[in-house]
Amino acid sequence: MTTALVYSEKYLEHNPGEGHPERPERLKVIVNALKRAKLWGTPKIKVLGPKPAKREDIELVHDPNHIELVERLSKSEKPLDGDTPVRKNTYELALLAAGGTIDAGRVVLSGDALNAFALVRPPGHHAGRNHSGGFCYFNNLAIAVKSMRLRTLILDIDCHAGNGTMDIFWGDNSVLYLSLHQWPCYPGVGWWDEIGEGTGKGFTINLPLYPNTGDDVYLRFVRSFFPPLVEQFKPELIGVSAGFDAHRSDPLTQMNLSSHTYYQVGKLLHEFKVLAALEGGYNLDALSHAVPAFLAGMRNQQLTLKEGATFTQKEIKEKNIQRLEEIKKFLSPYWSL
Ligand SMILES: [Zn+2]
Repeated sequence: MTTALVYSEKYLEHNPGEGHPERPERLKVIVNALKRAKLWGTPKIKVLGPKPAKREDIELVHDPNHIELVERLSKSEKPLDGDTPVRKNTYELALLAAGGTIDAGRVVLSGDALNAFALVRPPGHHAGRNHSGGFCYFNNLAIAVKSMRLRTLILDIDCHAGNGTMDIFWGDNSVLYLSLHQWPCYPGVGWWDEIGEGTGKGFTINLPLYPNTGDDVYLRFVRSFFPPLVEQFKPELIGVSAGFDAHRSDPLTQMNLSSHTYYQVGKLLHEFKVLAALEGGYNLDALSHAVPAFLAGMRNQQLTLKEGATFTQKEIKEKNIQRLEEIKKFLSPYWSL
């Protein structure tokens, strides 16, 4: 199996500023960890450089007004919101992140790789058709998925609900969006009754999890939804919003996962055509464990995990399982789960 990684040192130039959690070191740590794990630049793991996305690629997903806003703010260096500063090079680097994700998709589409991981910054899943924020400018994965024109299941494992991706595919039945996230948490959407509308009704699936959910319960949710949805929806591509901020050490969230979850989620994907794009994950040490675990899993390769698996405290486990059953019942008009 061949895997493509898309990366450029240019992605380190995106700098939201002193003390900002979405910092260049995140990607440096990931690259170093992948090199140490021999998951970088081998005959079967090719590393490719990105080309910037063209304006018409971004317009597949975003309103021209929103694109112009990001371009204009880059000139004035005015922020999109309090969490999402804009620098002189933001527009250019956001185009390169989207372009790198498109390039990763193309390698999968051509059959040169079974799966690909776009190691890009800035991230994308909070960027909707006409808005962005939460450290995001353009929705890298949504743009790449649209450009590929395949029936796609997007699995979003970032700890935050991908309100941007949800917005973009809300009325679209060619993309099934499945998100696991902490609840309550930023951005405040992603309850399980939010399922899309029109022809897209039933094609958005939100799995809100209680804070402190551990590997055991998280994987139970993944295994209860992902395989039956794949079987019934029959995607030609799996898109992954690969955020690693549900790790127990993440400073922005309160979940309790270890690299075991990321390895097992990767394993579930290993037979499919996969396009993964980096989203969040803000503890550097956690990234150095979780990202190699995910990639090794996706390649169905053995990897010795240095972290112990985590379990969910009894009360939270019971509440989560009760919720899991309620969600299954709620979705029964659309899917057999
Ligand atoms: Zn996140």
